[in-house]
Amino acid sequence: MNEWGITGGHESGIVYLVGAGPGDPGLITRRGYDVLHHADAICVDALVDPVLLADVPEEVERYYVGKHAGFHTLKQEGIQELIIRLAKEGKRVVRLKGGDPFVFGRGGEEALALREAGVPFEIVPGVTAAVAASAYAGIPITQRKMACFAMMLTAHEMPDKDSSCATLPWPEIAKLTGGTIAGYMGVKTLPKVIERLVEGGMNPETPAALIERGTMGGQKVVTSTLMKLAVDGQAAGIKPPALFVIGEVVSLSERINWLNPAPLAGKRVMVTRPARQAMPMVQSLQHLGATVLPAPTIKVAPTYIEASWKRMLSQPDRGGWIIFTSENGVRYFMEGLDKAGQDVRFLGRFKIAAIGSGTRDELASRGLKADFVPSRSTTAVLSEELPAHLEKGQWVIRVRGNLGDTNVEKALAAAGAEVQAQYVYETVTAPLNDLVRAWVHDVAPDIIAFTSGSAYSGFQEQWGEEADSLLRGAKLASVGPFTSRIIRDEGYEVAIEADPYNVTGLVEAIREDCEV
Ligand code: SAH
Repeated sequence: MNEWGITGGHESGIVYLVGAGPGDPGLITRRGYDVLHHADAICVDALVDPVLLADVPEEVERYYVGKHAGFHTLKQEGIQELIIRLAKEGKRVVRLKGGDPFVFGRGGEEALALREAGVPFEIVPGVTAAVAASAYAGIPITQRKMACFAMMLTAHEMPDKDSSCATLPWPEIAKLTGGTIAGYMGVKTLPKVIERLVEGGMNPETPAALIERGTMGGQKVVTSTLMKLAVDGQAAGIKPPALFVIGEVVSLSERINWLNPAPLAGKRVMVTRPARQAMPMVQSLQHLGATVLPAPTIKVAPTYIEASWKRMLSQPDRGGWIIFTSENGVRYFMEGLDKAGQDVRFLGRFKIAAIGSGTRDELASRGLKADFVPSRSTTAVLSEELPAHLEKGQWVIRVRGNLGDTNVEKALAAAGAEVQAQYVYETVTAPLNDLVRAWVHDVAPDIIAFTSGSAYSGFQEQWGEEADSLLRGAKLASVGPFTSRIIRDEGYEVAIEADPYNVTGLVEAIREDCEV
């Protein structure tokens, strides 16, 4: 057992059956979040928000086991075999399920299979849809003097079919008063459910609601009466996943309803930024109500070129300028410095030039301030403006990745500096994961955001033949003119462009576009 109280490891595996909550990724429990971030393998269902996995390290194995049209996914037995096999390999396996694992989630079956196979497991409950979707719709599922019980049922299979739910006692349920009924998986069968309840004697005027995608960006709520719920729901275009709630408490939603319409509500935004840097952008968009898909198209890996570091460190008394043009540059330079046995004091004899607020924030988080910032955040402007601050023959270290041109180096050398390019990271195409693929096939994105030309090239490489229809089917948003040009040169329209040319500017531009 480690400091998290998380057992398992390489001799004996374990399976955590974890409830991810109903949709809003903030509604996973603390325990669920902790085990997720200590997993060796994760198996996820269709309804789980991909944002939950966005900051799980890349090397953690991911299995998408959601039932999904057009996908070759596993049957229940297959899922059970998979988690048992992974645990027997000694892995800490997280089986992540929507809502609560034991509420219409087949968690019980999985637990029994694990017990039978002798695999240790732990259950991490989650917030179930009946509770969470109602809460986000302003419906207290119980209320003193109004609802003294709450019933969860599934209307998936109706009495005329031979199923376990054939035994649902509809006439008796119809006679219950003073409580709330929450129905899972019941969009299709709702007219039948209503028919049985009314036949059984339930008041047709009982307040009733349908909640689609409760707690998610695209949450839709229809309040009505029992009699009219199916018709009103259909008119509003309610689709699964949706929950129906029947009972007096629904009448409170008019007064308790607290969720403000967010500017990006219902918008599906794909963020192609590398996983490691994507979170602030993902969170800002979520905050504005968007449903965000973190779909990194490129990934950045550190490079450590020994000779280059040796050269830099072999001149201990020499100062000069050091140029950072990206957050990655700062991060991987500092990592390299650490690897070389040095620390932040090394920079004491250098002046720092920086482009972009993200770069400056990354510097600031390490207690460093830029001495020079060009008037516009581009390398071209930096090349023009920095020479005025240089002394003849001064040493300039340009921290960079493998992509992009060498114009800065050339311009500063022409201005008389001794320029050293210090390569500290490289950018490669990220593999496409099934969770992203499933999300996109489910409903295509409304907006695809590119924070660099390389993110766009990575997108093309990742999606191959499917790239074209995705790019034509969505509004494309770009971080600035350089990225826009790369996209436009390939014949696609860029509808949204950031100004200032950074992530904050991009999020703001997306918001403005959606307001029009
Ligand atoms: N284990 C899950 C339920 C899985 S069954 C839980 O505890 O919530 C799937 C059904 O749950 C859907 O058909 C729908 O009825 C309901 N559901 C799940 N997430 C929902 C959401 N965000 N909003 C409304 N209903 C939801």
